[in-house]
Amino acid sequence: MPTECIRAIVTGYADYRDNDRMLTLFSAERGRIDCKARNCRKPTAPLLACAQPFVFGEFELFTQNDRSTVNGCEIQETFYPLREDVDRFMAASAATQLANAVIEHESADRELFSLLYHILSYLAYTDDEPKDLLIAYMMHFVDHAGYRPSLTRCAICRRDVRQDPVLYYSAEAGGVVCGACPHGGKQVSKLALEAMRRILLLSHEELVRVVLKDELRRELSVILRNTCAKMLGENDKAIALLDQLL
Ligand SMILES: [Zn+2]
Repeated sequence: MPTECIRAIVTGYADYRDNDRMLTLFSAERGRIDCKARNCRKPTAPLLACAQPFVFGEFELFTQNDRSTVNGCEIQETFYPLREDVDRFMAASAATQLANAVIEHESADRELFSLLYHILSYLAYTDDEPKDLLIAYMMHFVDHAGYRPSLTRCAICRRDVRQDPVLYYSAEAGGVVCGACPHGGKQVSKLALEAMRRILLLSHEELVRVVLKDELRRELSVILRNTCAKMLGENDKAIALLDQLL
């Protein structure tokens, strides 16, 4: 059965030859699928509209010798407004790039798919600050990937630090650190720790409610950027995008 239909989001692409494109698809049931979209860059190509970043649709794939080619696609959502605003486009690119860094072939990940789908929808169709939506996404993303930061106990000595007046945050240590433990982290506000705790309690549908003041946004941006860099390495493409946007 070499032809199959798969519901997926386009999370990445690379152009090759004159008119072809290699797509990275993210399917909730199948994880990452790399496939060719031939002739999709010609202005009249039937695949032109679906071979674009963030497109969600039902892709018809032909697979032979472990190589997949897109035959056609029934587009369900293009998230078109993402293409009309630089910050929204960059936040969506960072979100899809982060997902790409962790999704695996033939490995279902419905949770991450739902998270990505919701954040793309909110970035495209609400007036919310895109950086706040990306921060909310990143908080759930690191949690889902097994990097949930320690927020109430010192990441080193494990002591409950909720009453401590001065606290630090170290992505290297994996969360908040008390004043007595050695660390390379920066001081962190109680407000930032509380915000992170609250964001983790929200469902994907509720992430649209995250609205941050400038100072808190800056603090959380640095914390989550460093946590993602610890996960993926400083040289990951997603980290470069985060540095540009945040
Ligand atoms: Zn400690």
